[in-house]
Amino acid sequence: MKVTLMHGAGGEVMGELLQTLTKFSHNNAGGIGLEALDDGAVIPFHGHNLVFTTDSHVVRPIFFPGGDIGRIAVCGTINDLAMMGGRPIALSCGMIIEEGFEVEDLARIVASMDEALGEAGANLVTGDTKVMEKGALDGIAINTAGIGVADTIIRDNGLQPGDRIIVSGTLGDHGIAIMAHREGFDLGEQIKSDVAPLWGMVQQALFAGTIHAMKDPTRGGFASAMNEMAKKSHVCVRIREESLPFRRSVKSAAGMLGIDPLEVANEGKVVMGVPPSDVDAVLAALRSHKYGRDAAVVGTVTRGAHVIMETAIGGERFIEPPMGDPVPRVC
Ligand code: MG
Repeated sequence: MKVTLMHGAGGEVMGELLQTLTKFSHNNAGGIGLEALDDGAVIPFHGHNLVFTTDSHVVRPIFFPGGDIGRIAVCGTINDLAMMGGRPIALSCGMIIEEGFEVEDLARIVASMDEALGEAGANLVTGDTKVMEKGALDGIAINTAGIGVADTIIRDNGLQPGDRIIVSGTLGDHGIAIMAHREGFDLGEQIKSDVAPLWGMVQQALFAGTIHAMKDPTRGGFASAMNEMAKKSHVCVRIREESLPFRRSVKSAAGMLGIDPLEVANEGKVVMGVPPSDVDAVLAALRSHKYGRDAAVVGTVTRGAHVIMETAIGGERFIEPPMGDPVPRVC
């Protein structure tokens, strides 16, 4: 079998490749390890919970409406730390650059990374640079890793019956922005990536109330993240279609492109499971932050299995785990 683009698309097909890529017998340093396939690992260290994660970025185009590969490379890692409850402390950056790449573009990418770091209160403290000959690589690939510290560890498998599902804002913005841009849709500034560092918003939410489970709906979008959370938590999630927040422009572009906006990557959103007693406080905390203004309660956790959509016209259907994100190289 040979690797295909679908193997990197974050869905069920990638899960098959991960069976090979996660065959490590040395996979856990004492807390939460690779076996959990959570957003990051946790390593207990002298009474603290160190959170550790890594992410590689190959998004095309490198500069897109609302962001660029540098901003994604920093936010991807910061958000994976945040999803575990980790305050981001320090990041590394490995850049692999194709011969002929414009130094001016590298400067733009670095400035964009620095801005995102500043927003999250983190620092980039170590790095590596490699250059490959022309044709060996498509422009640039950036890997970041990050460490953080968690007072309370949040998992993606902690949903409990009765919990409400909250999403922190409109869904599908990043994936549809990338795809619309590639297709040359003239939508002006209407559709922009949501790429953003979320620690500040997550910290406010954690302070406001109990969060049972958390995940960022990146590749494979809300459909993938919600299915993974439900499956790992051994529960059913019922989503009310009418309560899902979408930008109108994103919804109509998704329709034109024939893409389900629930299956494309978001880079600045969180899906949470929150007990009913704390929903109002957590929702208010999210909405008070600039990245959480459109936060909404979209569903309820019950006993059982699967993710079920209660449709606007009174029907029901499964939200299936996607085979992969319909937008290749989305992050
Ligand atoms: Mg994640």
